Amino acid sequence: MPIQKVLAKIRSTWMELVGQELARGMDVRAGFEEQLERFFDLLIQSVESNDPAWMDSLLLDWAKSSTESDLEEGLYQVTFIINRMIALTIHVVHENLSKQKALELLEAVVPIYTYCLGVVARYEMETRVAHISSEMEKAQKQMERMDRSKSAFISVAAHELKTPITLIDGYAAMMEDMIQEGKGVPLDSMLSGMQNGIKRLRTIVDDMLDVSMIDNDLLNLNFQPIQMEKMLDALRIELEETIAARNQTLNIELFKGSKLWIYVDPVRIMQTIRNIINNAVKYTPDGGSITISGRTLPGIIEVTVTDTGIGISQEDQAVIFEKFGQLGRVDLHSSGKTKFKGGGPGLGLPIARGILEAHGGSIWVESDGYDEKNCPGTTFHVLIPIRTEAPETKMAKLFGELDQKE
Ligand code: ADP
Repeated sequence: MPIQKVLAKIRSTWMELVGQELARGMDVRAGFEEQLERFFDLLIQSVESNDPAWMDSLLLDWAKSSTESDLEEGLYQVTFIINRMIALTIHVVHENLSKQKALELLEAVVPIYTYCLGVVARYEMETRVAHISSEMEKAQKQMERMDRSKSAFISVAAHELKTPITLIDGYAAMMEDMIQEGKGVPLDSMLSGMQNGIKRLRTIVDDMLDVSMIDNDLLNLNFQPIQMEKMLDALRIELEETIAARNQTLNIELFKGSKLWIYVDPVRIMQTIRNIINNAVKYTPDGGSITISGRTLPGIIEVTVTDTGIGISQEDQAVIFEKFGQLGRVDLHSSGKTKFKGGGPGLGLPIARGILEAHGGSIWVESDGYDEKNCPGTTFHVLIPIRTEAPETKMAKLFGELDQKE
């Protein structure tokens, strides 16, 4: 009996067995049975013509269907399928044919299977190597970017630190001169000047520490129950003087949900909103206004901070939440915390994002663009998840589930 006939004889048994085992083992891909039929047809064709290249198109189709993530994880699906097919063919042949016929058939099909394995393994390896190379390229680009931003950061940080140091230095020199000249030293004003410089230094160093904690996932949140309304009120009192100094107005609109009791880390959330308001003050001309409002969405409280300031270009909107995204403009960086366009080390928004993400929330910005003349304004949206149960057992014992009655 010619070998093609023998193949035809075992076809249905082979199809059933291979179909059953392989369709079970992996995600059943649509039309798997059809694919097996096609494989078997080509196998017969290859045997007839003694040319395994008939299998190429099918093998390539299969190899291409391996997802990137399969290969990323080192799952060589198609190599595995062919290997199993070889084992199952031997089994079917052994069960259904005489020894002689079995040997003849294996002699004809094993070289074709071996060829299939070679083609598929090469393709899968090549895809994996290409994937790894592209990952390495990406990592290298990222490292180069980080390297650039690191040196930019050093120059801005040095500049940021230098200004308050110069200020403190100046006061100290003035005091020294006055003492040497036997003049009375106006201690009050000197000390308050020095304290301002020290306060600014501390803020910059604290920001750097916060960024490093966020980067290393070390931000420890201390969840406590609060009402947004109370927190915003505290911020209003805290920032009253700053806002008055710039002749600006701060409107806080109560919104649905502002009285809701939720668990957050109040210190960190206040820091976030404070950063955003300080920016609004900084990038809004004298006499402008800042409005805080919000709403409740399913599972989330959204707080919005809108200013009538210079706005942010689309290009910058994409980078301001990145660490040091705004670097490279040493010209803008002065140590004026609330001075118009005062600049800063560019850490405020990345810290805000880090804190919100640690809460399971997020932040985004909306602005029609940057225009110092027409001042299109900017709105920051802060999304905070509504937690009515304490994430920590200690707090849960203290407060239990929050009662929303006012
Ligand atoms: P910094 O203020 O220290 O530069 P931030 O991370 O707080 O750093 O802000 C990053 C940048 O985003 C700012 O330098 C500024 O260009 C822009 N920005 C932030 N808030 C506003 C705003 N309300 N209006 C216009 N630009 C803003």
